[in-house]
Parts: sequence; structure tokens; C-alpha cells
Amino acid sequence: MSLLPGGTIGFLGGGQLGRMAAMAARSLGYDVQVLDPDPACPARGVASRTITAAFDDAEAAARLASECGVLTLEIEQVAVASLEAAARHAPVRPGAAAIHVIQDRGRQKEWLRDAGFPVGPFRVADSEEELHAAALALGASVAKTTHGGYDGRGQARLAGADDAAAVWKVIGGRRCVVEQWLSIEREISALVARRPGGECALFPLAQNHHDAGVLTWSMTPAAADPALADAARDLARGIAEALDVVGLLAVEMFVLADGRLLVNELAPRPHNTFHATERACETSQFEQLVRAVCDLPLGSTALVRPGAIINLLGDLWSGGGTPAFARALEVPGVRLHLYGKAAARPGRKMGHLSALGETPDAARALVQEAYRRL
Ligand code: ADP
Ligand code: MG
Repeated sequence: MSLLPGGTIGFLGGGQLGRMAAMAARSLGYDVQVLDPDPACPARGVASRTITAAFDDAEAAARLASECGVLTLEIEQVAVASLEAAARHAPVRPGAAAIHVIQDRGRQKEWLRDAGFPVGPFRVADSEEELHAAALALGASVAKTTHGGYDGRGQARLAGADDAAAVWKVIGGRRCVVEQWLSIEREISALVARRPGGECALFPLAQNHHDAGVLTWSMTPAAADPALADAARDLARGIAEALDVVGLLAVEMFVLADGRLLVNELAPRPHNTFHATERACETSQFEQLVRAVCDLPLGSTALVRPGAIINLLGDLWSGGGTPAFARALEVPGVRLHLYGKAAARPGRKMGHLSALGETPDAARALVQEAYRRL
């Protein structure tokens, strides 16, 4: 049964993704409630009620669900016990089974491999000895903690097995996935929305550039020949179906120098590389999430015009000043999106700039020009 406008949507997580999704929910006429550990979380100003609680507080998750028609999430680190407790009061979309697989980087990689989806060579390591053995087998590699890492945090590179002791310390002596360091030609991502009955909609692909593990810019549609684009979208749809994701599933992928397409990682929620859909597509990823979890008809994902975004990290605020937003906004067509975060820490995502253009590269040139003025 659909949850119609006028109903209440609960968000587990009130960061920028929750905030932007909550704004889309408001536009559609829904009420919004949020659970987040941070009382000053970005979604607070959009929600009619914010519960301040940890993501493993099952009682708090149940309290949120008891006042909502449906729950969704903006972060995969919500405890399975919380999802299960909430699901006794309202549907949780995506559900606990999919989140359980995705929230542990090791379990996710093993699931992808065992289900036959293409991933690069990797091993899971539980000790310095296992990390050493993995690096011996894989050569140049990267160790990623299985829990809690994002934006390149909890990761360290190894030139070879000799680095194992130092890297084990750097990542805090925690269970990790060790991946062979790949020769990446391009990073792309796919986004699929899925309703409870299985109906899917795929967005145009995004092409992404990371620096030090953090997304710098993204543009859509990605440069990809039709065969590669179809393969990438089929992969995303196949994974969403196999995991029975209801809501959104973003799939980060690597295109290797030899043309192979590999899955990097999954995100069962809105994704930074699809922020441009707010302008570049007929339906934004945030509205599409709302439609999918409320079991409404999915919106058209057709491209309106190529678009791009560039991230604004807390580093831009260093020295206590405010970036020169007025100068950036002089660039025709550029829009500013800020997430309402009070503290600007280095590496923290504070907002982004967006633009449309004749081509994805033209849109990217505009946001980069605006960025330079900050
Ligand atoms: P996060 O969860 O922090 O996004 P990712 O696994 O996506 O972590 O890694 C962040 C970025 O680091 C990737 O987008 C890519 O640019 C780079 N990276 C990650 N794994 C590899 C790898 N095996 N080989 C080469 N580059 C990688
Ligand atoms: Mg990533």
C-alpha cells in the first residue's frame, strides 16, 4: 500500500543526504521525522521532530517508527537490531537484510564476489599477519577497515608486504578488506531506484573524480560508450534485485585501463555523485527515494541537460573566514547548496556548487570556475 502525501516519513540519519531527501519529502507534502546522534544535524531544521540517539539505540528507532508511515535511511551504519525494532512498527526501506550485507565492507565484497558480480582481487584480514599475507599475495594494495570508514577514512595504502606492520597501526589494528591497487581509467557510478513491487528506474551514469579518497567533482552523464553504460546499469539493477533493495542503491564502479568494469562499493541511499540530478534530471535522486519508499510511481530519470557538482569541504573555511560565495555566484547558472553544518572541519562535506551545461565538461568547467573564486 502506498504512503500518500500527508503521511510521515522517518529518516535514520539526518546528515546532508537526509536533509536533502527530507526537503524533497516536504515538497511532496509529507511530514518528516529524523533520528541522529548529533542534536545539531543538518536535517533538524526540516524535520518536525528530531530524536537525538545513537544508531544502535533500538528503542529510539522503534520510537521513531511508531510515529511514521515508513522509515528510510541515509547511512548504512544503523545497527541491524535498530532496523528490526523499527520494522515492527513501520516498513523500513531498504530492509535490514540488505543493510546487513552492505554495512560491513568485508561481507559486502564477499557477497558481491559470491553472487558473481565483478570485483577486483581482495582478501579480508583480521590481524597484522593476515594483512602481511594479503599484501604478499596482492602486491600494491589498499587496506580499508570493514566498519565506519567513509570519504577515504579508515584506509591506508601498502606498496607491498613490508608496509603491513605500519598500515595495521594506521588503521587502528582493525579487521579490514585488503584490495589490490587497481589501474583505474575512470570512476563512474550508477543509481537505481526500486519500489516494493520490484519496479526499477535507472538514472544516467555519473562520472566522478576523487582526491585522497574524497569526491571532488561529479558530472552526468558519464563519458561511456553505450555498451559500457548498459553494462553498468545492468549491474546496478542486478545487485538491487539480488539484495531486494527498496529505495535507492548507488553502485560505485571502476573502469580499468583495459576496459573492464568492476564494482567498487555499494550505498543503499542517496549518493554524493548524484546531487546533480536535482537539476540535470527530470526527477532528483531525493524525490525518487521518497517515491520509491512510499510506493508511488517512480519519476522520469530522463536527462534535462548535462550537469556537474563540485564539493565544498571544511578546508575552505580554514582561518575562520567564510568562502567568497558572492563571487562564486557571479558565474552564470551556478547554484550554491549548503548543508547547514555549524563546524567546518577539514575534510567535512559542507556543501556543493552545481551547474548545467551543453556538455558534462562544460557544466564541470562552470563549477570549477566558481570554485576557484571562493
Ligand atoms: P569510501 O567508502 O571512503 O568512499 P572507497 O572504497 O570508495 O571508500 O575508496 C575511495 C576512493 O579511493 C575510490 O573512489 C577510488 O578513487 C580510490 N580507491 C579505492 N579503492 C581503490 C583500489 N582498489 N584501487 C585504486 N583506487 C582505489
Ligand atoms: Mg566510495
